[in-house]
Amino acid sequence: MIQLYIPLNFLGVIYREIKQSLADMERLFSLLDQNREIADAPDARPLLTHGAQVRFQHVDFSYESKRKILFDVDFTIAAGTTTAVVGHSGSGKSTLSRLLFRFYEVNGGGITIDGQDLRTLTQDSLRHAIGIVPQDTVLFNDSIEYNIAYGQPGASKEQIVAAAKAASIHDFIESLPDGYASMVGERGLKLSGGEKQRVAIARTLLKNPAILIFDEATSALDSKAEQAIQAQLKEIARSRTTLVIAHRLSTVADAEQILVLDHGRIVERGTHQSLLAQDGLYAQMWQRQQAKADEEGASPSDSELG
Ligand code: ATP
Repeated sequence: MIQLYIPLNFLGVIYREIKQSLADMERLFSLLDQNREIADAPDARPLLTHGAQVRFQHVDFSYESKRKILFDVDFTIAAGTTTAVVGHSGSGKSTLSRLLFRFYEVNGGGITIDGQDLRTLTQDSLRHAIGIVPQDTVLFNDSIEYNIAYGQPGASKEQIVAAAKAASIHDFIESLPDGYASMVGERGLKLSGGEKQRVAIARTLLKNPAILIFDEATSALDSKAEQAIQAQLKEIARSRTTLVIAHRLSTVADAEQILVLDHGRIVERGTHQSLLAQDGLYAQMWQRQQAKADEEGASPSDSELG
């Protein structure tokens, strides 16, 4: 595998942010290319958040001109609340988070944070305000300390340790022979999916963003690890505006709002209970999961959604 950090270190803050946030390299490089096309407006201003209400207003989007991915997507995440997006694979869930991070420009409609259109903002300030816990965290061939502090170069050791403690990964790090200096990544220690997600959570805690995007892992962690991570995410989502891209039902039931996407359109919205009562697509997905979980003898929250 290519060593990511050598070429990318030349590319500046924006690319470092992207590197921090993405799951795999193919996607990373396609986004790097894409990002070069998005420039700050000459009069771009820094984002000022006060609660961080997020609004998607009649958003249309396509990656390629021939194939539309999102159709008239319209929703509001009230400041400090959690909205979860569910839907079959390919319905456009992760695309919403890419648009909120402004990796791509919308083709129709607009996205605002506290009333400020993303196109009027500096990308640096936008990305500073948003923390992403991705599906699969990229670890760099460096120390675990570096990996946690990544994106926050001024962080002190105390702050790094506090974030690691809050993400329940401190004890694990201390148990390693080299502690926080232990090398991880391709040529170092290989961390499990859950450990990598904890590193991502620690990174996010250190960043302390007003808006949180959680792209839930597609492959289930073991239930105990999953529960611990859910509990931590609930904690960091408290008082932040949170968008959860849900692949399983475990993160969804508590959300203030659930959006059901189908082929790029919001077809249902509401709370878990109200969606079950609507007896539509969400209720079907839920029933299917429950049936699958019954077959497998697991809890419904452990099985996959999309
Ligand atoms: P999953 O649950 O499988 O992660 P999703 O609902 O998050 O799926 P998206 O990743 O948002 O789906 O993708 C929506 C559609 O956009 C898919 O059909 C996908 O093939 C397409 N797509 C995603 N990224 C790109 C890209 N960079 N270029 C072109 N098409 C893309």
